[in-house]
Amino acid sequence: SGPRVAELVASRVLDVPDFPKPGVMFKDLMPLFADGEVFRQVVDGIVAYHGRDAFDAVVGIEARGFVVAAAIAYAAGVGVVPVRKAGKLPRPAYSASYALEYGEATLEVHEDAFTAGHRVLVVDDVLATGGTAEATLDLVERAGGTVAGFTVLLELGFLGGRERLAPRPVHALLSV
Ligand code: AMP
Repeated sequence: SGPRVAELVASRVLDVPDFPKPGVMFKDLMPLFADGEVFRQVVDGIVAYHGRDAFDAVVGIEARGFVVAAAIAYAAGVGVVPVRKAGKLPRPAYSASYALEYGEATLEVHEDAFTAGHRVLVVDDVLATGGTAEATLDLVERAGGTVAGFTVLLELGFLGGRERLAPRPVHALLSV
């Protein structure tokens, strides 16, 4: 089902030039989320790839990662944990900052988000440079989770995110 799911992703991504700023080709996956049959096949494909007994929790990265993470968690019968942008979580949280092209971004997770040793599947919509994912995997480990996998719907291979995250494996439904 790998190539077939890749085709589905390719058929439901819209390229938006110069968003959110000039020179960026934004990959909009909202048409995929909005297509019930395709969304179901994509979610089921991710669960099948990892195995539904291979993880105890799913982390979604704000904000589009939440959409996929919640569906995967529901399909696998496990819980979902949000990794949020700075200042959004109400209780004590770990923070991880990383460099952006201009400035810095910070992500956070509640300190008590995981039971020690919980195997955590981390998901996001798009992997670009890998800074967001690297910070998130760091947060999961600091909060006592074990990273069971990292999955994205779409990988922008030319930005080197996979190499940045190595040796941790990256699973992408579609790489461009
Ligand atoms: P990065 O940290 O560079 O890997 O960026 C990944 C994060 O930014 C993900 O949460 C994506 O949703 C978002 N992102 C980065 N570049 C793009 C892009 N070209 N199209 C859509 N989303 C992107």
